[in-house]
Amino acid sequence: MESVLVSACLQGVPCRFDGRGKASPEMAAAIGERRPVSFCPEVAAGLPTPRRPAEIVGGDGHDVLDGRARVVDDTGHDVTEAFLDGAGRALEAARRAGCTEALLMARSPSCGRGAVYDGTFTGELREGDGVAAALLERHGITVRPAPGG
Ligand code: SF4
Repeated sequence: MESVLVSACLQGVPCRFDGRGKASPEMAAAIGERRPVSFCPEVAAGLPTPRRPAEIVGGDGHDVLDGRARVVDDTGHDVTEAFLDGAGRALEAARRAGCTEALLMARSPSCGRGAVYDGTFTGELREGDGVAAALLERHGITVRPAPGG
């Protein structure tokens, strides 16, 4: 059976920064007949739950991968290394399960695809991907923002 990587919070796992999950009723249809591989890059990297909200400052996840941008929390603490570690672990999990596609949580600094928060902690968005989404895309895994995410 084909497998698809899924942001764990979208399956109701309470792993978001605020200690909540966000189960989306549209997810079952998006997953279809595939086996969901539930994964949270930030928890996998050892970050606590709940945790301070974090955003990418100076670019998007691709810029973080290329060393041009950093991930910081709302106290100014730099968490870039943890986000890079979590992205690497997400890629490992996807490869291990043979996933060619990932359905990830919109706007997250790890999982966002197409748009992420802009680093000002004001709710504004910029075009781009989260760190894990960017790494998965770079390794040939198609990342889609999950419906209802
Ligand atoms: Fe974890 Fe991604 Fe959900 Fe954030 S968006 S809680 S990193 S699975």
